[in-house]
Amino acid sequence: MKLTFLGAAGEVTGSSYLVETGGLKFLIDCGMFQGGREADAKNRRVFACDPREIAFVLLSHAHIDHSGLIPRLVAKGFRGAVYATRATCELLGVMLPDSAHLQEREAEYDRTGRAPLYTVAEATASLRHLVPVEYGAEVRPHAQVRCAFRDAGHILGSAIVEVEAGGAKIVFSGDLGQPGHPIVRDPTPVAAADVLLIESTYGDRLHKSLTQTLDEFAFALNDTLASRKGNVVIPAFAVGRTQDILYFIAELRRQKRVPAFDVYVDSPMAVAATRITLAHPELQDRESLRMDEWLKGGPGGRVHFTEDVEDSKRINSIRSGAVIISASGMCDGGRIKHHLKYNISRPECAIVFVGFQAAGSLGRRIVDGAKRVNLYREPYPVRAKLFTIGGLSAHADRDALLGWLGNFRAAPRRCWVVHGEPLAAHSLREAIERRYGWRAAVPALRQTVEL
Ligand SMILES: [Zn+2]
Repeated sequence: MKLTFLGAAGEVTGSSYLVETGGLKFLIDCGMFQGGREADAKNRRVFACDPREIAFVLLSHAHIDHSGLIPRLVAKGFRGAVYATRATCELLGVMLPDSAHLQEREAEYDRTGRAPLYTVAEATASLRHLVPVEYGAEVRPHAQVRCAFRDAGHILGSAIVEVEAGGAKIVFSGDLGQPGHPIVRDPTPVAAADVLLIESTYGDRLHKSLTQTLDEFAFALNDTLASRKGNVVIPAFAVGRTQDILYFIAELRRQKRVPAFDVYVDSPMAVAATRITLAHPELQDRESLRMDEWLKGGPGGRVHFTEDVEDSKRINSIRSGAVIISASGMCDGGRIKHHLKYNISRPECAIVFVGFQAAGSLGRRIVDGAKRVNLYREPYPVRAKLFTIGGLSAHADRDALLGWLGNFRAAPRRCWVVHGEPLAAHSLREAIERRYGWRAAVPALRQTVEL
Protein backbone atom coordinates (compact mmCIF):
# COMPACT_ATOMS: atom_id res chain seq x y z
CA MET A 1 0.00 0.00 0.00
CA LYS A 2 1.23 3.46 -0.88
CA LEU A 3 0.33 6.88 0.48
CA THR A 4 1.09 10.16 -1.30
CA PHE A 5 0.82 13.50 0.46
CA LEU A 6 -0.79 15.71 -2.18
CA GLY A 7 -1.23 18.64 0.19
CA ALA A 8 -1.28 19.86 3.79
CA ALA A 9 2.30 18.66 4.11
CA GLY A 10 4.29 21.36 5.89
CA GLU A 11 1.36 23.75 5.47
CA VAL A 12 -2.27 23.99 6.51
CA THR A 13 -4.11 24.05 3.21
CA GLY A 14 -4.60 21.68 0.29
CA SER A 15 -5.47 18.67 2.47
CA SER A 16 -5.43 15.60 0.21
CA TYR A 17 -3.92 12.14 0.43
CA LEU A 18 -3.79 9.52 -2.27
CA VAL A 19 -3.99 5.91 -1.10
CA GLU A 20 -3.04 3.11 -3.51
CA THR A 21 -3.61 -0.52 -2.63
CA GLY A 22 -3.82 -3.55 -4.92
CA GLY A 23 -4.58 -1.49 -8.01
CA LEU A 24 -7.22 0.57 -6.20
CA LYS A 25 -6.71 4.31 -5.84
CA PHE A 26 -8.70 6.63 -3.62
CA LEU A 27 -8.37 10.03 -2.00
CA ILE A 28 -8.83 11.12 1.57
CA ASP A 29 -9.85 14.79 1.25
CA CYS A 30 -9.57 16.83 -1.92
CA GLY A 31 -8.73 20.27 -0.63
CA MET A 32 -7.76 23.51 -2.23
CA PHE A 33 -4.47 25.30 -1.56
CA GLN A 34 -5.18 28.79 -0.26
CA GLY A 35 -3.05 31.87 0.39
CA GLY A 36 0.33 32.64 -1.07
CA ARG A 37 1.41 33.12 -4.63
CA GLU A 38 2.01 29.45 -5.36
CA ALA A 39 -1.46 28.28 -4.34
CA ASP A 40 -2.97 28.65 -7.79
CA ALA A 41 -0.20 26.71 -9.52
CA LYS A 42 -0.42 23.95 -6.90
CA ASN A 43 -4.17 23.72 -7.38
CA ARG A 44 -3.73 23.28 -11.11
CA ARG A 45 -1.27 20.39 -10.93
CA VAL A 46 -2.34 18.66 -7.75
CA PHE A 47 -3.69 15.24 -8.81
CA ALA A 48 -0.90 12.73 -8.89
CA CYS A 49 -2.75 10.52 -11.35
CA ASP A 50 -5.54 10.68 -13.89
CA PRO A 51 -8.72 11.54 -11.92
CA ARG A 52 -10.51 8.80 -13.90
CA GLU A 53 -8.36 6.24 -12.03
CA ILE A 54 -9.50 7.45 -8.61
CA ALA A 55 -12.30 5.17 -7.40
CA PHE A 56 -13.76 7.31 -4.61
CA VAL A 57 -13.07 10.13 -2.16
CA LEU A 58 -13.50 10.11 1.62
CA LEU A 59 -14.07 13.64 2.80
CA SER A 60 -13.39 14.73 6.39
CA HIS A 61 -15.32 18.01 6.37
CA ALA A 62 -16.65 20.86 4.30
CA HIS A 63 -13.92 23.50 4.68
CA ILE A 64 -12.61 24.44 1.25
CA ASP A 65 -9.01 23.57 2.15
CA HIS A 66 -10.30 19.98 2.51
CA SER A 67 -13.03 19.86 -0.14
CA GLY A 68 -12.42 22.68 -2.60
CA LEU A 69 -10.93 20.70 -5.48
CA ILE A 70 -13.78 18.20 -5.79
CA PRO A 71 -15.36 20.15 -8.68
CA ARG A 72 -12.02 20.16 -10.48
CA LEU A 73 -11.54 16.44 -9.83
CA VAL A 74 -14.98 15.75 -11.32
CA ALA A 75 -14.41 18.13 -14.24
CA LYS A 76 -11.16 16.27 -15.01
CA GLY A 77 -12.94 12.94 -15.30
CA PHE A 78 -13.51 11.50 -11.80
CA ARG A 79 -16.57 9.22 -11.91
CA GLY A 80 -16.77 7.85 -8.36
CA ALA A 81 -18.59 8.76 -5.16
CA VAL A 82 -17.52 11.29 -2.56
CA TYR A 83 -18.44 10.04 0.92
CA ALA A 84 -19.03 12.59 3.67
CA THR A 85 -21.36 13.06 6.61
CA ARG A 86 -24.85 14.33 5.88
CA ALA A 87 -24.20 17.79 7.36
CA THR A 88 -20.98 18.06 5.33
CA CYS A 89 -22.90 17.26 2.14
CA GLU A 90 -25.46 19.95 2.96
CA LEU A 91 -22.73 22.50 3.62
CA LEU A 92 -20.96 21.60 0.38
CA GLY A 93 -24.20 22.30 -1.45
CA VAL A 94 -23.60 25.98 -0.74
CA MET A 95 -19.83 26.06 -0.33
CA LEU A 96 -18.67 24.52 -3.60
CA PRO A 97 -20.85 26.72 -5.84
CA ASP A 98 -19.72 29.72 -3.78
CA SER A 99 -16.08 28.72 -4.18
CA ALA A 100 -16.66 28.39 -7.92
CA HIS A 101 -18.20 31.82 -8.02
CA LEU A 102 -15.05 33.24 -6.40
CA GLN A 103 -12.89 31.37 -8.93
CA GLU A 104 -14.90 32.81 -11.80
CA ARG A 105 -14.63 36.32 -10.40
CA GLU A 106 -10.89 36.04 -9.88
CA ALA A 107 -10.49 34.80 -13.44
CA GLU A 108 -12.42 37.84 -14.69
CA TYR A 109 -9.92 40.16 -13.01
CA ASP A 110 -6.92 38.09 -13.99
CA ARG A 111 -4.78 39.95 -16.51
CA THR A 112 -3.01 36.82 -17.70
CA GLY A 113 -6.29 35.36 -18.96
CA ARG A 114 -6.19 32.25 -16.79
CA ALA A 115 -9.34 30.16 -16.76
CA PRO A 116 -11.09 29.69 -13.40
CA LEU A 117 -10.08 26.55 -11.48
CA TYR A 118 -13.68 25.49 -12.05
CA THR A 119 -17.00 27.06 -12.89
CA VAL A 120 -20.26 27.30 -10.98
CA ALA A 121 -21.74 24.78 -13.43
CA GLU A 122 -18.89 22.35 -12.71
CA ALA A 123 -19.26 22.81 -8.96
CA THR A 124 -23.00 22.20 -9.17
CA ALA A 125 -22.44 19.09 -11.29
CA SER A 126 -19.90 17.75 -8.78
CA LEU A 127 -22.52 17.78 -6.00
CA ARG A 128 -24.20 14.77 -7.62
CA HIS A 129 -21.19 12.68 -6.58
CA LEU A 130 -21.78 13.26 -2.86
CA VAL A 131 -22.96 10.29 -0.84
CA PRO A 132 -24.07 11.19 2.70
CA VAL A 133 -23.08 8.83 5.50
CA GLU A 134 -24.00 8.70 9.18
CA TYR A 135 -21.48 9.05 11.99
CA GLY A 136 -20.34 5.65 13.20
CA ALA A 137 -21.92 3.65 10.37
CA GLU A 138 -19.80 1.20 8.40
CA VAL A 139 -19.32 2.39 4.84
CA ARG A 140 -18.18 0.08 2.04
CA PRO A 141 -17.00 2.26 -0.84
CA HIS A 142 -15.34 -0.78 -2.43
CA ALA A 143 -15.27 -4.54 -1.79
CA GLN A 144 -11.77 -4.27 -0.26
CA VAL A 145 -12.40 -1.15 1.81
CA ARG A 146 -14.37 -0.45 4.98
CA CYS A 147 -14.54 2.92 6.62
CA ALA A 148 -16.26 4.91 9.31
CA PHE A 149 -16.66 8.59 10.07
CA ARG A 150 -16.41 9.74 13.72
CA ASP A 151 -17.27 13.19 15.01
CA ALA A 152 -14.10 15.33 14.98
CA GLY A 153 -15.72 18.20 16.89
CA HIS A 154 -14.23 20.82 14.56
CA ILE A 155 -17.21 22.20 12.61
CA LEU A 156 -20.68 20.92 11.86
CA GLY A 157 -20.36 17.54 10.13
CA SER A 158 -16.59 17.27 10.62
CA ALA A 159 -15.16 13.78 10.82
CA ILE A 160 -12.22 11.67 11.76
CA VAL A 161 -11.94 9.12 8.94
CA GLU A 162 -11.06 5.51 9.72
CA VAL A 163 -10.24 3.32 6.72
CA GLU A 164 -9.47 -0.37 6.61
CA ALA A 165 -7.80 -1.29 3.35
CA GLY A 166 -4.99 -3.56 2.24
CA GLY A 167 -4.86 -5.23 5.66
CA ALA A 168 -4.13 -1.99 7.51
CA LYS A 169 -6.18 0.52 9.42
CA ILE A 170 -5.53 4.12 8.45
CA VAL A 171 -6.85 6.82 10.76
CA PHE A 172 -6.96 10.37 9.47
CA SER A 173 -7.70 12.83 12.27
CA GLY A 174 -9.12 15.42 9.89
CA ASP A 175 -9.22 18.77 11.64
CA LEU A 176 -9.73 18.07 15.33
CA GLY A 177 -11.75 20.41 17.49
CA GLN A 178 -10.85 21.76 20.90
CA PRO A 179 -12.63 19.85 23.69
CA GLY A 180 -15.15 22.07 25.46
CA HIS A 181 -15.71 24.24 22.38
CA PRO A 182 -19.37 25.27 22.19
CA ILE A 183 -21.90 24.09 19.60
CA VAL A 184 -19.89 21.09 18.38
CA ARG A 185 -19.27 17.95 20.39
CA ASP A 186 -15.81 16.95 21.62
CA PRO A 187 -13.61 14.91 19.25
CA THR A 188 -14.33 11.17 19.35
CA PRO A 189 -11.55 9.11 20.95
CA VAL A 190 -9.92 6.53 18.68
CA ALA A 191 -8.04 3.59 20.21
CA ALA A 192 -6.14 1.93 17.38
CA ALA A 193 -4.46 2.59 14.05
CA ASP A 194 -1.72 1.08 11.96
CA VAL A 195 -1.17 4.32 10.11
CA LEU A 196 -2.09 7.63 11.67
CA LEU A 197 -2.27 11.05 10.08
CA ILE A 198 -2.65 13.74 12.71
CA GLU A 199 -3.26 17.42 12.05
CA SER A 200 -0.95 19.96 13.70
CA THR A 201 -2.36 23.43 12.95
CA TYR A 202 -1.67 24.49 16.53
CA GLY A 203 0.91 21.78 17.29
CA ASP A 204 3.24 24.34 18.86
CA ARG A 205 0.72 26.39 20.83
CA LEU A 206 -1.77 26.32 23.66
CA HIS A 207 -5.06 28.15 23.41
CA LYS A 208 -6.18 30.41 26.16
CA SER A 209 -9.02 29.08 28.27
CA LEU A 210 -12.57 29.73 27.15
CA THR A 211 -13.06 32.05 30.15
CA GLN A 212 -10.02 34.12 29.26
CA THR A 213 -11.09 34.15 25.61
CA LEU A 214 -14.52 35.46 26.49
CA ASP A 215 -12.86 38.13 28.67
CA GLU A 216 -10.70 39.25 25.75
CA PHE A 217 -13.61 39.28 23.36
CA ALA A 218 -15.69 41.30 25.84
CA PHE A 219 -12.78 43.74 26.18
CA ALA A 220 -12.44 44.19 22.41
CA LEU A 221 -16.17 44.84 22.07
CA ASN A 222 -16.39 47.25 25.01
CA ASP A 223 -13.20 49.08 24.10
CA THR A 224 -14.28 49.65 20.51
CA LEU A 225 -18.03 50.08 20.74
CA ALA A 226 -18.41 51.83 24.10
CA SER A 227 -15.11 53.67 24.62
CA ARG A 228 -13.86 54.55 21.16
CA LYS A 229 -17.24 54.56 19.38
CA GLY A 230 -16.10 52.68 16.31
CA ASN A 231 -17.10 49.49 14.51
CA VAL A 232 -15.78 46.01 15.10
CA VAL A 233 -14.94 44.06 11.95
CA ILE A 234 -14.52 40.31 12.37
CA PRO A 235 -13.15 38.32 9.43
CA ALA A 236 -14.55 34.85 9.99
CA PHE A 237 -14.95 31.61 8.08
CA ALA A 238 -18.60 31.48 7.11
CA VAL A 239 -18.89 27.93 8.32
CA GLY A 240 -18.18 27.20 11.95
CA ARG A 241 -16.49 30.36 13.07
CA THR A 242 -19.38 32.70 12.26
CA GLN A 243 -21.76 30.53 14.29
CA ASP A 244 -19.19 30.43 17.12
CA ILE A 245 -19.02 34.24 17.18
CA LEU A 246 -22.81 34.54 17.26
CA TYR A 247 -22.81 32.07 20.11
CA PHE A 248 -20.17 33.98 22.09
CA ILE A 249 -21.94 37.28 21.52
CA ALA A 250 -25.17 35.74 22.83
CA GLU A 251 -23.29 34.38 25.82
CA LEU A 252 -21.68 37.78 26.63
CA ARG A 253 -25.06 39.42 26.32
CA ARG A 254 -26.65 36.86 28.58
CA GLN A 255 -23.95 37.69 31.15
CA LYS A 256 -24.66 41.43 30.60
CA ARG A 257 -20.99 42.10 29.94
CA VAL A 258 -21.27 44.04 26.69
CA PRO A 259 -23.32 47.04 25.58
CA ALA A 260 -26.23 46.76 23.16
CA PHE A 261 -25.10 46.69 19.55
CA ASP A 262 -26.25 45.51 16.16
CA VAL A 263 -24.54 42.51 14.58
CA TYR A 264 -24.35 42.21 10.80
CA VAL A 265 -23.60 38.81 9.34
CA ASP A 266 -22.61 39.83 5.85
CA SER A 267 -21.92 36.71 3.87
CA PRO A 268 -24.56 34.75 1.99
CA MET A 269 -22.66 31.63 2.83
CA ALA A 270 -22.55 32.39 6.53
CA VAL A 271 -26.30 32.90 6.40
CA ALA A 272 -26.77 29.54 4.68
CA ALA A 273 -24.34 27.79 7.03
CA THR A 274 -26.15 29.20 10.05
CA ARG A 275 -29.43 27.88 8.66
CA ILE A 276 -27.90 24.41 8.17
CA THR A 277 -26.48 24.47 11.70
CA LEU A 278 -29.89 25.32 13.12
CA ALA A 279 -31.39 22.41 11.19
CA HIS A 280 -29.11 19.93 13.02
CA PRO A 281 -29.88 20.21 16.73
CA GLU A 282 -29.02 16.49 17.07
CA LEU A 283 -25.35 17.29 16.36
CA GLN A 284 -25.14 20.00 18.95
CA ASP A 285 -23.11 19.74 22.09
CA ARG A 286 -25.39 19.39 25.09
CA GLU A 287 -23.63 22.08 27.12
CA SER A 288 -24.42 24.72 24.52
CA LEU A 289 -27.00 27.48 24.78
CA ARG A 290 -30.09 26.71 22.80
CA MET A 291 -29.44 27.69 19.22
CA ASP A 292 -32.42 29.95 18.82
CA GLU A 293 -31.01 32.06 21.65
CA TRP A 294 -28.00 33.08 19.54
CA LEU A 295 -30.16 34.81 17.05
CA LYS A 296 -32.17 36.95 19.36
CA GLY A 297 -29.36 39.46 19.73
CA GLY A 298 -30.36 40.52 23.24
CA PRO A 299 -31.86 43.75 24.54
CA GLY A 300 -31.25 46.81 22.38
CA GLY A 301 -29.37 44.98 19.65
CA ARG A 302 -30.26 42.81 16.72
CA VAL A 303 -28.60 40.24 14.51
CA HIS A 304 -29.04 41.17 10.85
CA PHE A 305 -28.39 38.64 8.12
CA THR A 306 -27.68 40.44 4.87
CA GLU A 307 -28.05 38.49 1.70
CA ASP A 308 -28.20 40.91 -1.19
CA VAL A 309 -25.56 43.38 -2.27
CA GLU A 310 -27.71 46.42 -1.45
CA ASP A 311 -28.04 45.31 2.21
CA SER A 312 -24.30 44.78 2.28
CA LYS A 313 -23.57 48.25 0.87
CA ARG A 314 -25.81 49.88 3.47
CA ILE A 315 -23.41 48.65 6.16
CA ASN A 316 -20.69 50.84 4.63
CA SER A 317 -22.39 53.99 5.88
CA ILE A 318 -22.49 52.84 9.53
CA ARG A 319 -19.79 54.77 11.37
CA SER A 320 -20.09 53.31 14.85
CA GLY A 321 -21.71 50.74 17.07
CA ALA A 322 -21.78 47.83 14.65
CA VAL A 323 -20.19 44.40 14.79
CA ILE A 324 -19.65 43.19 11.24
CA ILE A 325 -18.91 39.50 10.71
CA SER A 326 -17.92 38.66 7.18
CA ALA A 327 -15.89 36.24 5.08
CA SER A 328 -13.40 35.18 3.93
CA GLY A 329 -11.80 34.39 7.26
CA MET A 330 -8.31 35.21 6.02
CA CYS A 331 -9.43 38.41 4.22
CA ASP A 332 -8.37 37.16 0.79
CA GLY A 333 -11.73 37.50 -0.88
CA GLY A 334 -15.40 38.07 -0.35
CA ARG A 335 -17.23 40.96 1.27
CA ILE A 336 -14.81 41.28 4.19
CA LYS A 337 -12.55 43.31 1.89
CA HIS A 338 -15.26 45.98 1.55
CA HIS A 339 -15.63 46.19 5.31
CA LEU A 340 -11.87 46.47 5.74
CA LYS A 341 -11.85 49.23 3.14
CA TYR A 342 -14.37 51.27 5.14
CA ASN A 343 -12.94 50.61 8.59
CA ILE A 344 -9.25 49.67 8.54
CA SER A 345 -7.94 53.24 8.34
CA ARG A 346 -10.15 54.55 11.19
CA PRO A 347 -8.36 54.45 14.57
CA GLU A 348 -11.65 54.22 16.49
CA CYS A 349 -12.48 50.90 14.77
CA ALA A 350 -11.12 47.44 15.48
CA ILE A 351 -10.36 44.35 13.44
CA VAL A 352 -10.79 41.28 15.59
CA PHE A 353 -9.04 38.17 14.28
CA VAL A 354 -10.62 35.01 15.56
CA GLY A 355 -9.11 32.35 13.34
CA PHE A 356 -5.89 31.06 11.85
CA GLN A 357 -4.30 33.39 9.28
CA ALA A 358 -2.22 31.33 6.84
CA ALA A 359 1.15 32.57 5.61
CA GLY A 360 0.66 34.67 2.50
CA SER A 361 -2.91 35.74 3.26
CA LEU A 362 -3.97 39.37 3.62
CA GLY A 363 -5.13 38.63 7.17
CA ARG A 364 -1.66 37.38 8.06
CA ARG A 365 -0.03 40.53 6.69
CA ILE A 366 -2.32 42.68 8.83
CA VAL A 367 -1.73 40.56 11.94
CA ASP A 368 2.02 40.70 11.28
CA GLY A 369 1.89 44.50 11.47
CA ALA A 370 1.68 45.75 7.88
CA LYS A 371 1.48 49.58 7.95
CA ARG A 372 -0.67 49.66 4.85
CA VAL A 373 -2.51 47.14 2.75
CA ASN A 374 -3.91 47.11 -0.75
CA LEU A 375 -7.64 46.64 -1.15
CA TYR A 376 -9.01 46.69 -4.67
CA ARG A 377 -5.62 47.97 -5.83
CA GLU A 378 -5.77 51.04 -3.58
CA PRO A 379 -3.44 51.43 -0.59
CA TYR A 380 -5.10 51.86 2.83
CA PRO A 381 -3.10 52.67 5.99
CA VAL A 382 -3.79 50.27 8.86
CA ARG A 383 -4.95 52.49 11.73
CA ALA A 384 -7.70 50.38 13.28
CA LYS A 385 -6.87 48.62 16.54
CA LEU A 386 -6.06 44.94 16.05
CA PHE A 387 -7.11 42.17 18.37
CA THR A 388 -6.19 38.52 17.95
CA ILE A 389 -8.31 36.14 19.93
CA GLY A 390 -6.71 32.72 19.58
CA GLY A 391 -8.83 30.83 22.06
CA LEU A 392 -11.83 30.78 19.70
CA SER A 393 -10.05 28.38 17.42
CA ALA A 394 -11.98 25.40 16.12
CA HIS A 395 -8.69 23.47 16.15
CA ALA A 396 -7.32 21.50 19.07
CA ASP A 397 -4.25 23.04 20.65
CA ARG A 398 -1.08 21.12 21.39
CA ASP A 399 -2.28 19.64 24.68
CA ALA A 400 -5.65 18.69 23.18
CA LEU A 401 -3.90 16.99 20.22
CA LEU A 402 -1.63 15.09 22.60
CA GLY A 403 -4.65 14.28 24.77
CA TRP A 404 -6.52 12.80 21.81
CA LEU A 405 -3.44 10.74 20.90
CA GLY A 406 -3.42 9.44 24.47
CA ASN A 407 -6.55 7.40 23.63
CA PHE A 408 -4.53 5.05 21.43
CA ARG A 409 -3.88 1.80 23.25
CA ALA A 410 -0.75 1.02 21.25
CA ALA A 411 1.64 3.02 19.12
CA PRO A 412 0.54 3.27 15.47
CA ARG A 413 3.13 1.62 13.25
CA ARG A 414 3.48 4.85 11.30
CA CYS A 415 2.53 8.33 12.40
CA TRP A 416 2.56 11.31 10.05
CA VAL A 417 2.16 14.84 11.29
CA VAL A 418 0.27 16.80 8.63
CA HIS A 419 -1.75 20.00 8.24
CA GLY A 420 0.62 22.37 10.02
CA GLU A 421 3.24 24.94 9.10
CA PRO A 422 6.74 23.49 9.58
CA LEU A 423 7.33 24.88 13.07
CA ALA A 424 3.98 23.63 14.38
CA ALA A 425 4.28 20.23 12.69
CA HIS A 426 7.82 19.54 13.92
CA SER A 427 7.02 20.79 17.38
CA LEU A 428 4.11 18.33 17.63
CA ARG A 429 6.24 15.53 16.16
CA GLU A 430 8.86 16.07 18.90
CA ALA A 431 6.17 16.22 21.58
CA ILE A 432 4.69 12.93 20.34
CA GLU A 433 8.09 11.28 20.44
CA ARG A 434 8.81 12.66 23.92
CA ARG A 435 5.46 11.87 25.49
CA TYR A 436 4.54 8.58 23.84
CA GLY A 437 7.84 7.33 22.43
CA TRP A 438 6.22 6.85 18.99
CA ARG A 439 8.23 7.45 15.86
CA ALA A 440 6.55 10.24 13.94
CA ALA A 441 7.46 12.16 10.79
CA VAL A 442 6.48 15.29 8.91
CA PRO A 443 5.98 14.41 5.23
CA ALA A 444 7.13 16.54 2.33
CA LEU A 445 4.68 17.76 -0.27
CA ARG A 446 4.07 15.06 -2.91
CA GLN A 447 6.16 12.54 -0.99
CA THR A 448 5.10 8.94 -1.50
CA VAL A 449 5.59 6.41 1.28
CA GLU A 450 5.28 2.65 1.16
CA LEU A 451 3.16 1.39 4.06
ZN1 LIG B 1 -11.28 22.76 8.87
